[in-house]
Amino acid sequence: MPPTPTDQPDQTAAALADVPDRTCTWCKVPMEKRLVAGGRFVHYTCPKCIFQHTSLRGKK
Ligand SMILES: [Zn+2]
Repeated sequence: MPPTPTDQPDQTAAALADVPDRTCTWCKVPMEKRLVAGGRFVHYTCPKCIFQHTSLRGKK
């Protein structure tokens, strides 16, 4: 059984600083950001309609 990826709050908070904000397509409110898959993906969640969007973070 593969280990479950866990969020590391400190690292996530720091890494989220350079993640662009995203607005919900429907509600036009800022979505909550969360890093997943070791920070390779950003998981956006709308607090109002629970619309979710996952995007790959660009590598630089
Ligand atoms: Zn929404």
